[in-house]
Amino acid sequence: MATVTQKSVIESVPKGLFIGGEWRDGSDGEMIAVDDPATGRVLTDVAVASVADGAAALDAAVAAQTDWARTPPRDRAELLRAAFEQLTARADEFAMLMTLEMGKTLAESRGEVTYGAEFFRWFSEETVRVSGRWSSAPNGATRLMTMKQPVGPTLMITPWNFPLAMGTRKIGPAIAAGCTMIVKPASQTPLTMLALADLLRDVGVPAGVLNVIATGRGRTGAVMEPLIRDPRLRKLTFTGSTPVGRRLMEQASQQILRVSMELGGNAPFLVFEDADIDRAIEGAMLAKMRNIGEACTAANRFYVHESVAEEFSAGLAKRMGALVLGKGTKKGVDVGPLVDEPARDKVTALVDDAVTKGARVLVGGSAPAGPGWFYEPTVLADVPSSADMAREEIFGPVAPVTTFRTDAEAIRLANDTEYGLVSYVFTRDLTRAITMSEALEYGMVGVNQGIVSNPAAPFGGVKASGVGREGGFEGIEEYLETKYVGIAL
Ligand code: NAP
Repeated sequence: MATVTQKSVIESVPKGLFIGGEWRDGSDGEMIAVDDPATGRVLTDVAVASVADGAAALDAAVAAQTDWARTPPRDRAELLRAAFEQLTARADEFAMLMTLEMGKTLAESRGEVTYGAEFFRWFSEETVRVSGRWSSAPNGATRLMTMKQPVGPTLMITPWNFPLAMGTRKIGPAIAAGCTMIVKPASQTPLTMLALADLLRDVGVPAGVLNVIATGRGRTGAVMEPLIRDPRLRKLTFTGSTPVGRRLMEQASQQILRVSMELGGNAPFLVFEDADIDRAIEGAMLAKMRNIGEACTAANRFYVHESVAEEFSAGLAKRMGALVLGKGTKKGVDVGPLVDEPARDKVTALVDDAVTKGARVLVGGSAPAGPGWFYEPTVLADVPSSADMAREEIFGPVAPVTTFRTDAEAIRLANDTEYGLVSYVFTRDLTRAITMSEALEYGMVGVNQGIVSNPAAPFGGVKASGVGREGGFEGIEEYLETKYVGIAL
């Protein structure tokens, strides 16, 4: 296999719009630059869709829907399996692309390829298991049959933080269910999705089933809204911020569109007095530092029992302080840059705000000088509840630690947020682990572990963190309608 270099992967990615099985230029010739967050320099330009291109993508998805829904499940399963094999075989290439456009280290990007590809394998196995049921009405007079059918053409809007996996988590079940789709990747990271479109075409996904259109920051809403309001679209699935999710749900309400929303988080990380502290620190490193803290699942608030807070904070600060910051493609680097300048400015402002309100910096606390959007891994102690970071997603490598005294206080603090995606609990007491899991108002709970994401599990949140689930047995249901047929005897 040819050596994967920065130049070779960037050159190999198609830079156009993928509509109806073909690559084409944008109808008005507009392009956007894709930057390397480690240097701030432009990597390449890609075409962005106009309103007319968006309409053409929907036309293609609608035209392909009937045949695609009739394609035997085994055939769709084989396509997904082939996509899994291909993605796995080309892991280095996809990892390099993600590192270049998003910033995380190559090791982390490889991890995302494994995670992202697994959605194709998982849903290839689910494709042939879709079924309805057959029963007798209680009065015995009729028979009740249910069948599962694809929802239909689906618009998928994805974020920049996991450029591959946030796409495969939607594309996998849509292919399995028999839905056609239009994918709109984030403007900071379109390259990974463009490369994936090419891969899916190569393995034989029919023309029109998958359409990928990048859009530019300024025109995204203008291109997406007519699609969402078009009665031919049957579903919108979005992963991104809660404010944008709210706006999209409003637009979707016009057509009573099926929606899945994977939105923001504000994850609490609870460490109880009986916890294995080394294990809690290990878990904290994963929950905080995976993806440079730019994950909806990132631990955003650390609540530690007062009797173990000093030991935990000191241990975490030591581990965070030892991390090496640098360009994600460089050997020996642990932490890459944040995605762009606004992201770094936001983290800087949140830390400055917390410190002004009384937080102590145990390690880090600033952005290093020089090019790129880096921020030092940071641990803050005594963070007051009035700090903005207690309510907002930090989306960076900053761990704010606060203490608690009782289990009731821990629950109150943890649930005191509009979000409800994931929470983490570290304890050796089985009863406490169960009662906490029940009391925490979150879609997911990690017990003695800092990562919950797993293609075989239902990922998703409650409250302002979203509606619907991705992955697991639940993931395919989001792309299926249940039809009931009543049969009189
Ligand atoms: P974002 O600003 O909401 O953008 C997400 C996507 O929405 C991008 O593709 C963006 O396109 C698009 N978008 C923005 N405005 C739009 C509009 N008016 N109409 C249609 N599409 C629009 O979020 P982000 O900063 O990329 O991602 C970070 C957020 O995602 C965080 O809040 C994080 O918690 C959340 N997230 C959630 C999950 C989960 O599973 N719950 C997973 C990962 C991330 P442009 O780039 O073209 O603007």
